Amino acid sequence: MGNFKIEKATTTRINNVDWDNLGFGVFFSDHIFVSDYENGKWDEGKIIPYGPMPIEPTMCTLHYGQSIFEGLKAFRDVKGGINIFRPDKNAARLNHSGSRVCIPPFDEKTFVEAIKELVRIDINWVPKKRGQSLYIRPVAFGTGNFLGVHASSTYRLIIMTSPVASYYPEGLNPVKILVSSEYVRAVRGGLGSAKTAANYAASLLAGTLAKKNGFSQVLWLDGVTRHFIDEVGAMNIMFVINDELITPSLEQGTILAGVTRDSVLTLAREWGMKVSERQITIDELIEAYETGKLQEVFGTGTAAVISPVGLIQYNDKSMIINNMEIGPIAQKMYDTITGIQYGELEDVHGWNVHIDI
Ligand SMILES: *Cc1c(COP(=O)(O)O)cnc(C)c1O
Repeated sequence: MGNFKIEKATTTRINNVDWDNLGFGVFFSDHIFVSDYENGKWDEGKIIPYGPMPIEPTMCTLHYGQSIFEGLKAFRDVKGGINIFRPDKNAARLNHSGSRVCIPPFDEKTFVEAIKELVRIDINWVPKKRGQSLYIRPVAFGTGNFLGVHASSTYRLIIMTSPVASYYPEGLNPVKILVSSEYVRAVRGGLGSAKTAANYAASLLAGTLAKKNGFSQVLWLDGVTRHFIDEVGAMNIMFVINDELITPSLEQGTILAGVTRDSVLTLAREWGMKVSERQITIDELIEAYETGKLQEVFGTGTAAVISPVGLIQYNDKSMIINNMEIGPIAQKMYDTITGIQYGELEDVHGWNVHIDI
């Protein structure tokens, strides 16, 4: 158990929650975890009621975007208790992101303990229906008040939680995605491998235009040649071509190392699939499509777990994948990962951090 100071909320907002229409990130639980970094160290952290925090107009993060975040989920285990899915991976990634934007590392064990304690305190906020979950959102940012361009010397880490709906209440619905040939999200040497606010700012315009045209997300190409496929808005991308699972490799540093990506690759290898992490161009994809070898496309990410792609639009070319239906690999991945998360399948990898209640 963590050793955090706890200030309990005197009232609860849980009665305002519409459990049948949770949406995503609409309702926020009663408590947050907060730790501040000052004089070269993070304080021991505390749990306090959710609420507004005063800021000064000069707060550096507003101006220079020194901000990183994480996203993970907690689930009600069918056998009782709560499972938090692979929080150690998020702890490590938070620090990876921080290293890129000069935010000092936070102790990874303390991070996981803070999440456990926060979930315990707001245990009633963990939804009860299969498909629903408690989304956990850590965010860390510079809190210095100055206008000179330099890294802050003070920071705040906040962890908040939000009960969220199943992404697919009516089963997995294949989405349409638009390849952006005009805008890019990340470049080599840039911020692409960090979960940082700036990457999202860079993606909003293309995302808005895509939605206006009936697409749910943008598929990003690399920033230099505009041939290599990077990833989807907030998901990694996977292709099944000729029975081989292919996903862009991480070494270019332009895509995020997703926890779901890692889970999918681990399972696929165990199932004996041929798996390749390598660069893949949009032309190779088109060729696979035209020769009938492109079997499945799906995105991977914490929010949706698996998001089958039914259509990819690249300039004038529309590729309809698997008849706009979810494919067998995507379905099996979704069933297996969610089965582990809800405690229906054995967690042979030790991915769940379990909380007894
Ligand atoms: C968070 C995120 C992902 C998915 O990562 P998970 O750990 O699987 O949720 C993929 N791409 C980007 C850009 C992201 O921000």
